[in-house]
Amino acid sequence: MTNIIWLKGGACSGNTMSFLNAEQPSVIELVTDFGIRILYHPSIGLEIGEQVNEILNDALDERVPLHIFVFEGTVIQGAQGTGNMNYYAGRPMKDWVADLAQVAEYVVAIGDCAAWGGIIAVPPNPTESTGMQFHKGQIGGYLGEDFRSKSGFPIINIPGCPAHPDWMTQILVAIATGRMDEVLLDDHHRPKTFFTDFVQTGCPNVNSFYKKVEGSFGQRGGCLFYEVGCRGPMTHASCNRILWNRTSSKTRANHPCLGCTEPDFPHHDLKKGSVFKTMKYLGFLPKEVPAGESKLLYYFKTGMNKVLTQNKPLDPSK
Ligand code: SF4
Ligand code: SF4
Repeated sequence: MTNIIWLKGGACSGNTMSFLNAEQPSVIELVTDFGIRILYHPSIGLEIGEQVNEILNDALDERVPLHIFVFEGTVIQGAQGTGNMNYYAGRPMKDWVADLAQVAEYVVAIGDCAAWGGIIAVPPNPTESTGMQFHKGQIGGYLGEDFRSKSGFPIINIPGCPAHPDWMTQILVAIATGRMDEVLLDDHHRPKTFFTDFVQTGCPNVNSFYKKVEGSFGQRGGCLFYEVGCRGPMTHASCNRILWNRTSSKTRANHPCLGCTEPDFPHHDLKKGSVFKTMKYLGFLPKEVPAGESKLLYYFKTGMNKVLTQNKPLDPSK
């Protein structure tokens, strides 16, 4: 049996909703096929009041082993560092987080808010929210750079707004089946298997991207990078490889990728004019270029591509 306790801080519960939609494996299969026992989850558990305290204290006192502590949402430290803005089961949630993280074999931060603060930590951040081990792109967060759970792993971040359900269940299965030695983390503690490629990998608009053919919301045959701010070329996630609902993704439905798996999400802190819009220099050069490209070279290449392909109609089969 692999015991899990799942708690939530400053969260909209979107990651729980996503988790319940997992298909490979599903949440039911986690329990029936992989021996996962959810000791407590605030949305799906039946326990209330004292019963919750008992479960949490049994884990803290190590009467019941805690193999995985999952946290969703920000760690709320307000007001003035007391954590009183998020009081839970008789004490600030941040204190439960600190203590449970010490006794758990693995600690998993689900979604952007738990990983690095997400939307809730955007300035002025009145709840003094932060992520478990990062604040935006900066390592540290609530538990500090040096935190390691009993297994020796740092916080395992599965970001997204929300995270893809199968990213969550597959990591839980890796833990439950003793395969964590195969799970490599990147610099932001994300499992490389899901967060090495870019969202653009597998996007049907790539042909238009290279030919610099502009697209728009819901319109087939163009790329969303040039006008409506698609972040597919600089966002690490497998959304076009492991499809959502096994069917589609944002960019497949011609909706720009918002870059929700990166620590700086929401990018530009939601400043006016920065959402669904490509930020530009001189009115036509994108301020942010695909990851790994030098700006100068990128501008030169796309300019050449545009000239060379300008009079050729797009062949959607290529
Ligand atoms: S729509 Fe987005 S992900 Fe797809 S090719 Fe264009 S920039 Fe890349
Ligand atoms: S396509 Fe982009 S914004 Fe949408 S879920 Fe994937 S990473 Fe997040």
